[in-house]
Amino acid sequence: MSIQTQYMQDIYSSVEKRNRGENEFLQAVKEVFESLEPVIEKHPDLIEAGIMERIAEPERFIQFRVSWVDDNGKVQVNRGYRVQFSSAIGPYKGGLRFHPSVNASIIKFLGFEQIFKNSLTGLPMGGGKGGSDFDPKGRSDNEIMRFCQSFMTELEKHIGPNTDVPAGDIGVGAREIGFMFGQYKRLHNDFTGILTGKGLTYGGSLARTEATGYGLCYFTEDMLKDLKNTSFDGKTVVISGSGNVAFFAAQKAQKFGAKVITLSDSSGYIVDPDGIDLDVVEQIKMVERKRIGEYVNQKPGASFHAGCSDIWTVPCDIALPCATQNELDEKAAKALVANGCFAVAEGANMPSTPEAVQVFQENGVLFGPAKAANAGGVATSGLEMSQNSLRLSWTFEEVDERLHQIMCNIYKNASEAAAEFDHPGNLVIGANIAGFLKVADAMKWEGITY
Ligand code: NDP
Repeated sequence: MSIQTQYMQDIYSSVEKRNRGENEFLQAVKEVFESLEPVIEKHPDLIEAGIMERIAEPERFIQFRVSWVDDNGKVQVNRGYRVQFSSAIGPYKGGLRFHPSVNASIIKFLGFEQIFKNSLTGLPMGGGKGGSDFDPKGRSDNEIMRFCQSFMTELEKHIGPNTDVPAGDIGVGAREIGFMFGQYKRLHNDFTGILTGKGLTYGGSLARTEATGYGLCYFTEDMLKDLKNTSFDGKTVVISGSGNVAFFAAQKAQKFGAKVITLSDSSGYIVDPDGIDLDVVEQIKMVERKRIGEYVNQKPGASFHAGCSDIWTVPCDIALPCATQNELDEKAAKALVANGCFAVAEGANMPSTPEAVQVFQENGVLFGPAKAANAGGVATSGLEMSQNSLRLSWTFEEVDERLHQIMCNIYKNASEAAAEFDHPGNLVIGANIAGFLKVADAMKWEGITY
């Protein structure tokens, strides 16, 4: 075993000891550390600066009680989190997730990934993430508002336009961002760009809503062209999820000439062999906030299947997992390969298990990892921050063009880093290295602070 491998394994062991039972977080750290072994070999100065020891420990981790009153007058208590992982290259930046599965491990895995993703965008943003185990499903607008106001009453102590700028994620869309922005403004008497993903009438950016899904397709289109000299045009695509990322990924893939035949939510998935009708999905999911199974009532040619995991048995050319972490395991990956799928790009954060990624790599399936492929959302959040600072609003086309350019650069940088470190075509390694190098350099220059 080389000295570098031993060094990384020793540090990983100490991360494991310090974060016992936090499986999602440890999974994310392990993948990054494994990718960085060749970097440590070329840059032994990083060992001296203690970069690896420092980068896997958050600069700050905040946990707090969120009490609120439901529509029946009953007091409810949830747990809120914010992890401020790295401010080496800019203010902490990363979404807020409201979902009953949220815990310290999930928030830390997302915050850790965000460090490298934000670096890859080329914009000055550090890594953070937050959220709550609050479940917005089935709650009235008034309950959502009271929860968001209570959540922000604590969170506001820790954020600021030059300190930490949260955004949306699972369960946090325009409605929740609006309520939290309103509460921050009331507490501070300060109209400032404290959150991104804001509505267009109060400082939001055009194309932010579409950005993660569109960016995923821009990245995938580059990957298909560069590594297989092909494109979305005429391909059959399976997409999981039916939220923000999935919906706009489906829309852009269709614009690129693909046929998207599935979408899902946590109740199950729909298959429409004629291609998903996104107008129908928009009405069900975004307007009526109902379950995806409603789709078959309006589209009799489509079918609904309860449960999520079998979605990957639907034959396709390209798969875009856009729901949640670890939704695509080894068995699912093998089913995709057996059915001829030749490209997978991650819209969700860490949707593929390490075993699934291995199956893709062993079978020559093109693989776009989340921290590169879904960076379009945070990149456009960065563009929203720029517009807020300039007190200007760019057109949809201007923002979309910048997003497109950023995604091309991310693909190029990840691909070049993979080649430079002797793993051509391995975008997992390439994205981790390209994202890491800039952060590590900043940490060296800034001295041993955090
Ligand atoms: P949304 O809340 O808009 O949608 C999430 C979708 O995933 C819903 O269809 C939801 O179904 C489904 N889902 C959530 N949890 C589970 C679960 N445990 N099992 C099965 N399905 C589930 O979230 P987003 O679209 O914003 O986020 C999706 C993924 O993309 C997340 O991993 C997020 O971190 C990542 N991401 C989002 C970005 C953004 O800009 N929004 C940016 C970068 C990454 P149901 O409604 O039934 O819960």
